[in-house]
Amino acid sequence: STFSACPPDGEELGRSAWTLLHSAAAYFPEDPSAQQQSSMLALFRALPHIYPCLSCAEALGEEYDREDKEGGWEDRSLNLTEAVRSGPSLRKWLCGIHNEVNSRLGKPNFACTESKLSERWLDGPADGTCD
Ligand code: FAD
Repeated sequence: STFSACPPDGEELGRSAWTLLHSAAAYFPEDPSAQQQSSMLALFRALPHIYPCLSCAEALGEEYDREDKEGGWEDRSLNLTEAVRSGPSLRKWLCGIHNEVNSRLGKPNFACTESKLSERWLDGPADGTCD
C-alpha cells in the first residue's frame, strides 16, 4: 500500500505534505475571512522553518525571498501575502510553488488552471473514476 509502518522517506513526506497543502487550498473559500487568511499565511510562512527536510526548507525560504523581491514571475504574478486573499489566487500561487520544485527536480510541470486543480484535488475527473 502507499503507507507503511516505517518512517517516511523524502518522497513519501513530500507527497503527504503536498496532499495536505493542495487539499487545504482546494477548500479555501473564494472570499476567506480575515482569520482564514492569517491562518493560511501563518501555515505557509512556517514551512521554511519547520519542514522536516532541511535542504527543501531552505530552498522554499529562498523562493519566498525571491518572490517578495521580484514580485513573482510568469504564471505566478502573486506573492504569498497577496495570494491568501482568495481561494483561486492561493491555488494558483501554490501550484506555481510546486511547479518550481518540480522543475528543480526534473519532474513535469502541472497546468495551473482552476479546472485542472479542482479535478486533481477537489472533484476528481468528470468520468467518475474517483467517485
Ligand atoms: P509530488 O511532487 O509529491 O506531487 C504529488 C501529486 O501532486 C502529483 O502526483 C500530481 O498529481 C500533483 N501535482 C504535481 N505538481 C502539482 C502542482 N504544481 N500543483 C498541483 N498539483 C500538483 N524534494 C526534493 O528532493 N528536494 C526539494 O528541495 C524538495 N522540496 C520540497 C518542498 C516542499 C514544500 C514540499 C512539500 C516537498 C518538497 N520535496 C522536495 C518533495 C517533492 O516535491 C516530491 O513531493 C517528492 O519528490 C515526491 O514526488 P512525486 O513524484 O510523488 O509527486
